[in-house]
Amino acid sequence: MATERKEIKQPKALPAPNVDFYEFAADLPAEEMAIIKKVREYMETKVQPIINKYWVEDSFPFELLPSFKELGIAGSGIDGYGCPGGSPLLVGLMAMEIARTDTSFATFFGVHSGLAMGSIYLNGTEEQKQKWLPLMARMEKIGCFGLTEPLVGSGTAGGMTTTAKREGDTWILNGQKRWIGNAPWCDISIIWARDVADNQVKGFIVENKATPGFSVEKMQNKIALKVVQNGQITMDNCRVPEANRLSGATGTFKDAAHVLRGTRHLSAWEITGTQMGAYENALKYAQERLQFGKPIGSFQLIQELLAKMLGNIVACQCMIARTVQLEAEGKLSDAHAALAKAFCTSKARETVSWARESMGGNGILVDYNVARHFADAEAIYSYEGTYQMQTLIVGKAITGFSAFV
Ligand SMILES: Cc1cc2nc3c(=O)[nH]c(=O)nc-3n(C[C@H](O)[C@H](O)[C@H](O)COP(=O)(O)OP(=O)(O)OC[C@H]3O[C@@H](n4cnc5c(N)ncnc54)[C@H](O)[C@@H]3O)c2cc1C
Repeated sequence: MATERKEIKQPKALPAPNVDFYEFAADLPAEEMAIIKKVREYMETKVQPIINKYWVEDSFPFELLPSFKELGIAGSGIDGYGCPGGSPLLVGLMAMEIARTDTSFATFFGVHSGLAMGSIYLNGTEEQKQKWLPLMARMEKIGCFGLTEPLVGSGTAGGMTTTAKREGDTWILNGQKRWIGNAPWCDISIIWARDVADNQVKGFIVENKATPGFSVEKMQNKIALKVVQNGQITMDNCRVPEANRLSGATGTFKDAAHVLRGTRHLSAWEITGTQMGAYENALKYAQERLQFGKPIGSFQLIQELLAKMLGNIVACQCMIARTVQLEAEGKLSDAHAALAKAFCTSKARETVSWARESMGGNGILVDYNVARHFADAEAIYSYEGTYQMQTLIVGKAITGFSAFV
């Protein structure tokens, strides 16, 4: 009588998480793809192993700066002035890739390379660009961007209280700035202040450590983006030479808005990376974590959460892939950038909370690499213009009515 042999099923190799589900990075030329791979490897091998510790401690990983500088990516998107150049798609993918591992690190980089260097590139004179951009591209000088104030956040365009008064070839700055990323330790600040003579908001390059009356207090007790050091800047009769006024553009609030149009768009890339990081970690966990004797990833309700997360990510990627085309064609409007930021940050809040939920209790432990993304998404939802401000920009563009008060 033939003995019945039960076939033992070998476990098949599980698919690795694929966060580029619709292959939109395929549009990058090979040399730019190589840069993204270099950034990814850096983030995975140098940043990931230590970032949770720094996040918990509320401190910045200065130990990484020498090796990060060697990547040579500061000033990406800027041609000339010692900057590496690169397409808008490369710049976006880079922000996304950095945030995929850590959103704080993406913010530190975005403030320096996008907000501070972008302010000088878009609004500075030729001499200012020649003087500052090469130093900043080499990251020998790190920058910050001071727009928000303790009493004025969303309403800075009309309500800014920091003043600039001209005396000969010197400007006297007085006032406070709050929430300023990198400020507690960086070298130069782009300070936006209201000229008391014409009531217009103007930008100034202030050398933090060499300007008497300029002081920064580190903000404490944040629950998001804890690696980024945010500061409250106080300026008490700070004297800044006329040579440091960003006088290459309009000399009005439009100059700050021009910078923000690009960086808001980059925030949409960053928050898409945040979602990718949360999703990948949740997916790996679902493939490994056993309950009722089976991987939780084999349960329909967990698969639904994962599919919804991936849907959000792909929707955000498709949207920003199109906005980057508009940017490359010089057609990106404030409303385009605002809609991308509003949409991607609101989808991200869903994605990171589904990732957290799918991991049960471990979803709130920093060690499992989802809790950090969960908390960090909250800050991006509000910075560089809150969700409400972005929707008001879109609302004005589509209805013709301004609902700003
Ligand atoms: C982690 C982090 C990093 C940051 N980094 C920087 C930086 O580097 N440089 C910098 O300059 N700033 C920075 N900011 C500041 C950020 O841009 C502001 O927090 C943001 O613009 C909102 O300002 P606010 O916090 O003062 O909120 P408020 O303006 O006081 O708003 C509070 C609430 O009221 C809502 N609201 C306000 N006005 C209206 C209205 N008219 N209609 C409907 N709703 C309204 C807002 O949407 C929000 O929900 C940072 C903030 C954070 C959290």
